Amino acid sequence: MPEQIVGLWYNSCVFEQRKLAIDTDPMNTKILMKSVFEIKGKTMTATTSPCFFRMHNVIQDYAWGSKTSIESLFGVANPEGKPQAEIWMGAHPNGCSQIDVAGKATRLAEFIETDKAAIIGEATDKQFGELPYLFKVLAAEKALSIQVHPSKTQAEAGFAKEQQAGIPLSAGHRNYKDPNHKPELVFALTPYQAMNGFREFADIVTLFRALEIADLHELVIALEENQNEAGLRQFFEAMLSLQGEVKDIAVNGLLTYAEHHKGDELFALILDLADQYPGDIGLFSPLMLNVLTLQPGEAMFLDACTPHAYIKGTGLEIMANSDNVLRAGLTPKHMDIAELVASTRFVPMPADTLLLAPEQSEGGLHYPIPVPDFKFSVYHNQQEAVLNVASAEILLAIDAALTVNHSNGETLTVEKGESVFIPTYAGSYTATSTGRFARAYN
Ligand SMILES: [Zn+2]
Repeated sequence: MPEQIVGLWYNSCVFEQRKLAIDTDPMNTKILMKSVFEIKGKTMTATTSPCFFRMHNVIQDYAWGSKTSIESLFGVANPEGKPQAEIWMGAHPNGCSQIDVAGKATRLAEFIETDKAAIIGEATDKQFGELPYLFKVLAAEKALSIQVHPSKTQAEAGFAKEQQAGIPLSAGHRNYKDPNHKPELVFALTPYQAMNGFREFADIVTLFRALEIADLHELVIALEENQNEAGLRQFFEAMLSLQGEVKDIAVNGLLTYAEHHKGDELFALILDLADQYPGDIGLFSPLMLNVLTLQPGEAMFLDACTPHAYIKGTGLEIMANSDNVLRAGLTPKHMDIAELVASTRFVPMPADTLLLAPEQSEGGLHYPIPVPDFKFSVYHNQQEAVLNVASAEILLAIDAALTVNHSNGETLTVEKGESVFIPTYAGSYTATSTGRFARAYN
C-alpha cells in the first residue's frame, strides 16, 4: 500500500501535513477514511486514521477506596463490593487503558508506540517521549498517606543514586521509581477533604502549645523562637523522628486533648484518623498542615515539595507521569525521613491561596498549572464547541453523555463516567454535552 497522508494539524500557526507509512504499520490497525480539509482557502482531501477511541480503563481496588462513590456517580457496577479507589485513564504501565483499534482491544501505550509523533505530537514526543500525564477519578473513603513529591531535579538525582546503588525498583525502601516530578491537580466531584501545604508558623505554634504535652514542650518552644523555614524544618523532622515511648506518650496526649475538644472539626478529624491509623505520628499532621474541604467544582494544585494528603471524597486528579512518593505519616509503609526533609519546602501556604481560580474562555474553565506536563479544563453544557488539538487528549464525560464529531465524518458518544482518547493528528473536533466534561491534555 502506498504511503498515505493520515493527519493534518495545527502547529506553530502553520498547518502542516504529516505522512505515515501505512504499509509498515506493525499492528495493521489503521482504518482509512476520506476526509476533506480546508487549509488557507484551499480544499484538500486526505486519508485519516480514526480520531476517537473509546477507553476501557483500569479500576484500582486500593483498600482506602470507596465501595459506592464511583458506582453511584458513574454507574460503574461493583457486584463484588470491592473498593473502587481509582479509575486510571492513560498509558501508565501499572494500569494502562485499552482502546479499540480496528475492533481489536489494544493497550493505549502500544497504540502510541505505533507513531508517537503523530499520536502524542512531535513537541511532546521530543520533550517527554511518552504521554506525559495520567488522568484519574479518585474516590477516597479512608485517608491516604501524607506525602511529598520531589522536584524534577531531586527526582533525577535520587533516581540515579538508587539505580547506582542497585536498589530494585520493587524494593519497599526504594524512594524513586522514575526520574520525574509529580505535580498534581485535584478537582472535586463531591465535598473533598484534604491537607495541603504548611500552616502559618504562628498557627502551628498555637495549636501545639494548646496540647500541653510535656514531652513536646522543648520542640514547641524552639519553633516559637524560630518561626522560619529552618525552625519548621527542625520541628517537622523531630516530630517524625519520635520513637517508642515518647512517641506513644505524645500521640496519647494528642488524643486525650482531641477527646476533650471533639466539638472542634479539626480535633474530630484527628480522632477519625486515629481510628484509621492508630498510634501513627501522622495524627499530628492536621496541626501542621492546612486542612480544607473543596466543594464540588473547586480545584487545587499540589505542588512538588509540598506535603499533602487526601482525606475523604471523590474527585478528578491529573498528574505528571510519575510514581515518586516520599511518605510523611498516616501509613504503614516505609518512611525515609532524611530524604523527605531534603525534598520538602518548609514555607507556609496561606489557606486562602489554595483554591485555583480558573480562567474562563471558549465555554471552558481552564485551570492555571505551572508545569508543562499537563493542562486541565472543564466544559459545561456545550453545543458543538470547537476544540483545537495540540497534544493527545483524554475527555471524560462527568454528568451527561458527551458526543464528539470530526470533520472527517467520524462521531462517538460516551456516557457519563466514560472517556475518549483523541490523538494529536485529529487536528480539531467539536464536542456536545448537556452536562460537564473534563479535558486532559498538555
Ligand atoms: Zn500526591
